[in-house]
Amino acid sequence: MNDFNAKFQCMNDCGETYPLDQIIYKCKDGEGLLEVSQDLDALKQRSGKEWRKLFESRHMGNEWPYGSGVWGKKEFILPGIDAENIVSLQEGGTNLFWAQRLGKELGVSDLWIKQCGNTHTGSFKDLGMTVLVSQVNEMIQKGAPIKAVACASTGDTSAALSAYCATAGIPSIVFLPQNKISLAQLIQPISNGAITISMDTDFDGCMKVVQEVTKDNSIYLANSMNSLRIEGQKTISFELAQQFNWEPIDWIIIPGGNLGNVSALAKGFKEMNETGIIDWKPRIVCAQAENANPLYKSYKNNFETFTPITAKATQASAIRIGNPVSIQKAINALKDFDGIVEQASEEELSNASARADLTGLFTCPHTGVALACLEKLIANQTISKGDRVVVISTAHGLKFSEFKTKYHEEKIEKVISKHKNAPIKTSADPEEIKQIIDEKINNYQMN
Ligand SMILES: *Cc1c(COP(=O)(O)O)cnc(C)c1O
Repeated sequence: MNDFNAKFQCMNDCGETYPLDQIIYKCKDGEGLLEVSQDLDALKQRSGKEWRKLFESRHMGNEWPYGSGVWGKKEFILPGIDAENIVSLQEGGTNLFWAQRLGKELGVSDLWIKQCGNTHTGSFKDLGMTVLVSQVNEMIQKGAPIKAVACASTGDTSAALSAYCATAGIPSIVFLPQNKISLAQLIQPISNGAITISMDTDFDGCMKVVQEVTKDNSIYLANSMNSLRIEGQKTISFELAQQFNWEPIDWIIIPGGNLGNVSALAKGFKEMNETGIIDWKPRIVCAQAENANPLYKSYKNNFETFTPITAKATQASAIRIGNPVSIQKAINALKDFDGIVEQASEEELSNASARADLTGLFTCPHTGVALACLEKLIANQTISKGDRVVVISTAHGLKFSEFKTKYHEEKIEKVISKHKNAPIKTSADPEEIKQIIDEKINNYQMN
């Protein structure tokens, strides 16, 4: 197994590579982000069929660490890591929800929601964090002088970092924008014992500070600039292919903020293609909130220019990012996967989220952004009736209960809550209540 190996490589093709245990986030030319480069020639020595069988045999099993959706693909992630140093919470393996009723309403019969938020800390960020914290743990076990791991976050990254660090017994530091994340997101790092710094700035401001604080390398930087996380997140693609019996998917819709996830899913599909695990490519849609849409603007300009913006407030607070770290990787990915960027207003994302909930889901606002973009792409006939569509649900709706509550109370500014379902205040009179219930049942659209 040890003939596979991975290393950091400059994504500007300058040829520079670095070992994975070096503390480095950008190429020494100061420009290029790094990406993890897998030894595809070695991986190709096994046939696509053999890999598929191996992945299937490990799926959700109890042989450490392969039962995890991430570590079941260990040879494609961190082939050299010692299994004992892996910090895993059995992440991945999330449900692929067949959105039959919602699909029927929207006019697409093959619609699926990948529930990446049904996981340890409630968002897909666990997938990347298990890889990053495992690598740091291995470095510490081998004597590296790392004192702590830090990140700036729009909420979910900090929750994942603090949980994985607390599991491994490594101190964590999180930098959060004050009053710009949900209460559930704030209480997660606090509960896990992270040093929680609440700053009077936005995410992009937190990002600047964390880069300064981690400069001397005694504190490891866990932002999505760190390409180890992409390796974990790319397993969403492997898992999706496996859940569809390795058969084609036409569209994947991904909410995008810092744009790591778009890049990660593309990397997963690319590596599966190159190693013969699959022989098809989906088209990728990146869904942005209109209030935080720098990629959408660049897309409208055929990606000829990119201008960072100051992101405005959005219910989809985890994607309130104006200057995405992975912009170049995402643009490359979208070009490679015949990609599209679409955007959703506050009203569109709020109503799309509530509409999906009425069919049994409990969607976060970012998933609402993706669903609203899906509606638009069906309306303009980009996505057709028979297409197989997967929407990536990035977090659990329970992390965003303030958003849900405000929606149903009609308290989201400038949003008309088309699908509101307010609690009914009544007397304790059974007759009055029976009448109300009758009326409600008669209005229910059964199918
Ligand atoms: C981080 C996050 C995103 C955005 O992912 P990027 O990789 O930064 O584009 C979307 N939704 C949720 C819930 C997140 O936590």
